[in-house]
Amino acid sequence: MTEPDNNLHRYHRQMLLPDIGEAGQQRLREAHALIVGCGALGSAIADTLTRAGVGTITIVDRDLVEVTNLQRQILFDEEDVRSAIPKAEAARRKLAAINSTITVNAHVDDFSARTCARYIDGVDVILDGLDNFETRYLLNDIAVSRGIGYIYGGAVGTTGMSMSILPHPRARSQQASPRLEWSAKQATPCLRCIFPDAPPPGTSPTCDTIGVLGPVVTTIAAYQSAAAIKLLTGNLDRIDRRMLSIDFWSNQLRQFELAPAPLEDCPCCARAMFEHLHGDAASRAVSLCGRDAVQITPATANGSMDLNAVAGRLHAHGNFTVTPFLLRGQFATETGENGAALELTLFSDGRAIIKGTTEPDFARTIYARYVGT
Ligand SMILES: [Zn+2]
Repeated sequence: MTEPDNNLHRYHRQMLLPDIGEAGQQRLREAHALIVGCGALGSAIADTLTRAGVGTITIVDRDLVEVTNLQRQILFDEEDVRSAIPKAEAARRKLAAINSTITVNAHVDDFSARTCARYIDGVDVILDGLDNFETRYLLNDIAVSRGIGYIYGGAVGTTGMSMSILPHPRARSQQASPRLEWSAKQATPCLRCIFPDAPPPGTSPTCDTIGVLGPVVTTIAAYQSAAAIKLLTGNLDRIDRRMLSIDFWSNQLRQFELAPAPLEDCPCCARAMFEHLHGDAASRAVSLCGRDAVQITPATANGSMDLNAVAGRLHAHGNFTVTPFLLRGQFATETGENGAALELTLFSDGRAIIKGTTEPDFARTIYARYVGT
């Protein structure tokens, strides 16, 4: 018998599970999980995987902690709201206090076709903490082309859904060399097999328009986390091959059987067309649905924008402050739609969130006028 590894003692109750044991715990320590989006789903997943001992966790999130997040986003508190800290950084600090033996990489960034290459090398599983289908399809393209597991999750209102995706090897690119592999027989349909096209913007309800019940989100996050632990410990046959759908208000829990993968006409996992991954790299201004805000992403990221210099230029136009992560404030000289207060949040890579408007063209004008092009 080998001596038990004392560094693993904290995981004793997890290692007692016969399918995990010390060997499974070692596998978790060698694993790398990418969590995209650190809101309600992402923070609950990050908390669970940090406690479970996943050795490297990378978190990418573009937003700040706001007071309306605290109802369900379990890693954040009132001090995070007061200090207007980005979610990724707030999460990193909390996770480091929970488990100092793992590595947490936190990135304040918009995960997009343009930026994703920075974050996906060496990743063993992708966990979906998102609130929009556009980025989910990007995650799906990455997972299928690289042969990485992708755990989809979503929650809105009183309902939630989750599905584990083990992409079919057929569409994997020749350069991909995933550390974890599975057979064609173990593969599952991908997200686009199930949802071929995203709902048009503005047509589907969001947490910001119809609300969300906290326990639904934590349940979906727990289901996603369990799937990741199964995958990372090599328990592939324990992964649920059905789609889970829950509604905690009408007390429904359903599991839908899925057809064998890949579905013949799926553009992604059957025909290897990765249109979301090869998206255009132009600057973008997107209205953030239900948020009364527009996000501006410049075409070329400038990693070293001098926020103090911008604050100096803005001084005469309102009340703006600079923190170690961002510049933030409200215009005195400009208003948004219907006289709404117009707020600017600017990150050092040039990305901005302009709140108080849903008009991309107006937001671009404000950006060009006060930040520059
Ligand atoms: Zn597919």
